[in-house]
Amino acid sequence: MKNSISRRDFLKGSAAAVATAAVAGVLGGCSNNSSSSDNNQPEQKVDYNATSNTGLCNVDVASMDAWEADVAVIGGGGAGICAAIAAAEKGANVIIMEKVGYLGGATILSGGKIPATGTEEQIAYGETDDTVGANAQDILRPNNYSVREELVYTVCENAKDMIEWTKSMGVNWSIMDSLYYGQSAHRMHFAEGSGQGMTTKMIEHLNSLESITVKLSTAVEGLLLEGDTVIGCYGKDDAGKAFALKAKNVVLASSGFGNNEEMLQKYCPEAVPAVKIVAAGATGEGIKWGEQLGAELACMGAYQGYAFHNVDNDTTSDQGLANNGAIFINEQGRRFCNEYGGYSELTPHILAQTNHICYLTFTDIQAEKCANFQTWDEAGIVFKGNTVEELAAAIGVDAATMTKTVNAYKEGITKGEDVFNRTKLPANFDGPYYALKITGEIRHTQGGIATDVAAHPLRADGSVIQGLYAAGGCTEGFSSGDGAAYMSGNGLLQAMIFGKIAGINAATETRGDVKAVTWTKSEIDN
Ligand SMILES: Cc1cc2nc3c(=O)[nH]c(=O)nc-3n(C[C@H](O)[C@H](O)[C@H](O)COP(=O)(O)OP(=O)(O)OC[C@H]3O[C@@H](n4cnc5c(N)ncnc54)[C@H](O)[C@@H]3O)c2cc1C
Repeated sequence: MKNSISRRDFLKGSAAAVATAAVAGVLGGCSNNSSSSDNNQPEQKVDYNATSNTGLCNVDVASMDAWEADVAVIGGGGAGICAAIAAAEKGANVIIMEKVGYLGGATILSGGKIPATGTEEQIAYGETDDTVGANAQDILRPNNYSVREELVYTVCENAKDMIEWTKSMGVNWSIMDSLYYGQSAHRMHFAEGSGQGMTTKMIEHLNSLESITVKLSTAVEGLLLEGDTVIGCYGKDDAGKAFALKAKNVVLASSGFGNNEEMLQKYCPEAVPAVKIVAAGATGEGIKWGEQLGAELACMGAYQGYAFHNVDNDTTSDQGLANNGAIFINEQGRRFCNEYGGYSELTPHILAQTNHICYLTFTDIQAEKCANFQTWDEAGIVFKGNTVEELAAAIGVDAATMTKTVNAYKEGITKGEDVFNRTKLPANFDGPYYALKITGEIRHTQGGIATDVAAHPLRADGSVIQGLYAAGGCTEGFSSGDGAAYMSGNGLLQAMIFGKIAGINAATETRGDVKAVTWTKSEIDN
């Protein structure tokens, strides 16, 4: 890994023109306009347009440090790390810029779980008949087949390669024993050490590669343009010094907008009250730059939620309780949905209740299978009652209504027919009773710049934005057209596989000549 690039290195190359360029007009709102910029001097030569958070503008690249690379990668999470490594493997010199002080983004916070078929691990587990098509259908089912299937099939076809590629970097994978909710086979690969373990191994590998320069605490502020072609990016380095980076191609891997309140309000309003367990850097500017360049945005209302967050000690709660028979009781003492569901899909149901909360209510049957029960009990966040009436008093809901609700659930268990169509019911729901006060989390947004299967950003007319590639949370995704539908693993599949594809193509394609790649479903996919 190279940690810096000198101005002299940069000036040696064709990028010298950038360093000598001057800027005149400012089209409005650019945060980095130099004081030499002057709207009243239109006769001055404008060399570079740029994108900014607020609109297309011109930047004074002459006053900035000049950097150069074959491939510039914006964002150092899963998509960016994969893009940088893949580009370096193709012989490119890469600069990866990360605006916070460490690599990893949401990827290092993640569970490190990826569904893949036909891997050594899955075969050894004894799951020998699983297929790419079954994986794809499991991803498409929760969103009612509302997303682009070519994106889904591309990640499913490449998931095995991703497991093997990351293994070559030192990541250890095992198959999860429990059949993951919504997955028709044991295919959930779980990284040793979760997302932290997985990402740390990948970062170690990245750091060992001479041709990759890592720039931490380096915020990219926009893209450099020549006409409508992307030729680099600009921003501020860790010392606050402005830089302009000229590259043969740029990979946008800047994630979604989970940490941007305004964008959440605009695109995912029902998720606004959720607790934010998101990457600090997920503020959405990359999506805005794409939009300014004419890229189509898609699935902007899609997000990954998580329905189980303990309100009383601000920790992530346990979905296993609900899977094993716990029910949701709202402040009115009523159930409101089938609690045996996807953790993301359940989130808006809870957020829609009074005060955006409910009580995850259970008995000893569920408590005995909950590894954290004792910890939470000791922390004092478990409400208790020997009877429903006692628990109702402890949580402050109407006892008569709650008793009616619990009795109806018990009757459903006896009949084998639940009012909310729960298919997984416990043997009984007899007291003593317990409850945890929970709310929903938002973890990641799932919509953004539309791309083809080769990570080329697309305009509405299907044309490609030359010089730019996009992967991960800043792209369209395939979790849902809108809302919280999400198959576990979609986030990492989207980030890591399209990150790798973006890196390979950014290193090997010549901007100006790039055409959108069309995809046809093959017979073997199903
Ligand atoms: C708690 C949690 C658990 C999860 N578990 C799973 C799981 O088990 N399986 C799964 O598939 N998905 C999971 N996800 C979702 C998954 O983590 C994300 O979908 C995925 O990591 C997104 O990767 P990314 O590279 O697009 O974004 P990130 O990993 O967030 O990386 C983007 C990076 O870009 C940086 N950046 C942004 N703007 C700029 C800029 N202007 N200049 C420079 N840098 C910039 C950010 O700071 C950030 O570090 C989980 C998410 C969370 C929060």
